[in-house]
Amino acid sequence: MATRIGIMGGTFDPIHYGHLVTAEEARHDFQLDLVLFVPSGQPPHKTDRRITPPKHRYLMTVLATLTNPHFAVSRVDIDRPGPSYTIDTIELLRQQYGPDEEYFFISGADAILELLTWKEPERLLGMCEFIAATRPGFPLNQLTETVSELGDQYGARVHVLTVPALAISSTDVRQRVASGRPIRYLVPETVLYYIEKNRLYRPGAPAQADEPESEAAEAAPSVLSEVGPSDLP
Ligand code: ATP
Ligand code: MG
Repeated sequence: MATRIGIMGGTFDPIHYGHLVTAEEARHDFQLDLVLFVPSGQPPHKTDRRITPPKHRYLMTVLATLTNPHFAVSRVDIDRPGPSYTIDTIELLRQQYGPDEEYFFISGADAILELLTWKEPERLLGMCEFIAATRPGFPLNQLTETVSELGDQYGARVHVLTVPALAISSTDVRQRVASGRPIRYLVPETVLYYIEKNRLYRPGAPAQADEPESEAAEAAPSVLSEVGPSDLP
């Protein structure tokens, strides 16, 4: 039987319980054998905010997912330069895990609404199923409409997943750290300690400085580069 693989892309700057609950809920409801968290690479320079170097976002994602035997972290997006288009990510993962497995792209419902603006949407829609997780306060009727349109026009397989209302966002976590508010219980403890130890998200903190890609990739210990269930391909 084909392995059912969930793919959860994100900046994970930092990863928080909203991401983890969504992945676990998707794993359960769609009988996924594995959920791969895929931290994005360093986006092109002129973005509206400075993204934390990939090595930190990668390691926090590893720490957060370590205790779940069905979760693993993939380096496909952080190990290649340039913007990470979802279609390229899925293609690389299909090469790595096999073309006959079943792939489910998990994402927040807000992202799914913009799916047609992604790179090669029609081809992408044929490559995997989509799980649209609703975030707190999300207007459901707009989503239901888009989902049925995508199905009718492109044969897209999009499922809506209602996750318990978790009003957590990485933006809020970063702002909390910057202003000295607590983030305990919003992120796993290991992530909290990692943020403290590396002084992330504090104004003017050195860890926020840009690093060349290669240096960032090198800095991640190789022993952590393939963390995941050992019985899967
Ligand atoms: P930021 O505030 O920096 O945009 P974020 O919290 O949205 O960060 P991302 O890394 O951008 O986190 O999100 C990765 C994926 O997880 C996206 O598909 C996003 O929609 C989804 N997501 C983020 N937070 C939640 C949440 N609380 N519940 C469900 N899904 C979420
Ligand atoms: Mg976001």
